[in-house]
Amino acid sequence: MGLFRLLILIALVFAAVWLWRRLTRKPRPASRSAAPAMVRCAQCGVHIPKDRALHGNDRWYCSQAHLEQDRSHGGR
Ligand SMILES: [Zn+2]
Repeated sequence: MGLFRLLILIALVFAAVWLWRRLTRKPRPASRSAAPAMVRCAQCGVHIPKDRALHGNDRWYCSQAHLEQDRSHGGR
């Protein structure tokens, strides 16, 4: 019964690959030591995490649109 053995072999290989993937997959270090620093949008005043905020004119903005609005409003 060569075919039967081949099927078992394939199943074993699949199981091994699945197991290997399960073992090698590491949990993400999602939580860093501290919470992300929050900054305030200079245009609308909303609070956003610093890594998502945009920096311009020595200020922080929640979006590109607000950055440009403030720049056109304040600067020449
Ligand atoms: Zn804003």
